[in-house]
Amino acid sequence: MSMSPCRALRCSAVVAAFLTLALSGSPAAAQVPDGADFHDAHFHLTNYVQEGTDIRDLVDMMGGTIGRSTVFGLPLQQMWSYRNTGDFAPVYYLQTDAPLYYYSFTDAHIAMAYRSLTAEQQVRVDPMITGFNPADMYAADHIRRVLLTFPGVFSGIGEFTVHKEFVSAKVAGEVASLTNPALDRILDLAAEAGLVVILHNDINMPFPKPDQEPYMLAQMKGLFARHPDTTIIWAHLGVGRIVRPLANQAAIVEKICTDPALAHVYMDISWDEVAKYVTATPEATRRTADIINRYPDRFLFGTDVVAPRAVDAMVAVYDAYAPLWALLTPEASFKVRKGNYERLFDAARVRVRAWEKANADAPRAVPEWSPSSGKGTQE
Ligand SMILES: [Zn+2]
Repeated sequence: MSMSPCRALRCSAVVAAFLTLALSGSPAAAQVPDGADFHDAHFHLTNYVQEGTDIRDLVDMMGGTIGRSTVFGLPLQQMWSYRNTGDFAPVYYLQTDAPLYYYSFTDAHIAMAYRSLTAEQQVRVDPMITGFNPADMYAADHIRRVLLTFPGVFSGIGEFTVHKEFVSAKVAGEVASLTNPALDRILDLAAEAGLVVILHNDINMPFPKPDQEPYMLAQMKGLFARHPDTTIIWAHLGVGRIVRPLANQAAIVEKICTDPALAHVYMDISWDEVAKYVTATPEATRRTADIINRYPDRFLFGTDVVAPRAVDAMVAVYDAYAPLWALLTPEASFKVRKGNYERLFDAARVRVRAWEKANADAPRAVPEWSPSSGKGTQE
């Protein structure tokens, strides 16, 4: 029987991949440019209407400047409500009062985009699962299903959001909460499967009254402490466009770095809005640098750029931090820009691949928790 052209092609691809491996040793070492300025721990390929950058263009843009990058879309889709905005098609959540809803197809979209890359290009990106509703007890089951449908692709979950200024209140359905057991199920699965978690949770509400209790801080520390085996990156140090750093922000960040119960919690300094706070005054930059220099293993740089057309968008965020880079020790600077990314995401790749293998033939997961009314019997 002669080999079909399709099989012959696949065979030669396997040989080519093998040769690449044999000639270069570790594929990661060979394909990630040594001289890259940074790895991007926080990057959105698509926007709030699920459109964005072709992943192959992204890898081209990264060139020799960005070594590796996380890749995620946005879990939320902005609805175009004709009743609300007529012919105006909103592409951002602040452009309309219509609700946002969870768009699970983003995970299939990201997975297929990743699969369109060559093996050499794939080495440079870490796709993340985001298309789940963190208020849904079934969210963890969605994540499990995505991993088993697209094995070999994902390194983590997120960026997903619990409290975010102007966003959380717009999401259709039940509002997300740090105290919801649905979130505990998600973080339990992340620990089990080795997924890195990127969580956006503002440290406070926008425009708080002067003596208003920042209740989210206590809830967040409680959540982190309940999941000591989950690798969690707290996005943007908890600040936002309007949500300002708390007066004792430096002390809060330092407490996370020194509390042994929170040793699994990392922080990213992504978003140009965060760079504005950090570089607002020489004192603010100095305070931030001091903490990072003392705990260099706990911070990651990311851009939080959404659907860029050129690498300039990411480089602009990196450059905005120039005053901070200047104050970091060489060791801390390397770890924040690249070292911590490599440590966390390399570990995740190994662990998630092993989990996928171990669970590939496992019977369909049945949630441990179930309503007392009986489960799974109705057709
Ligand atoms: Zn983001």
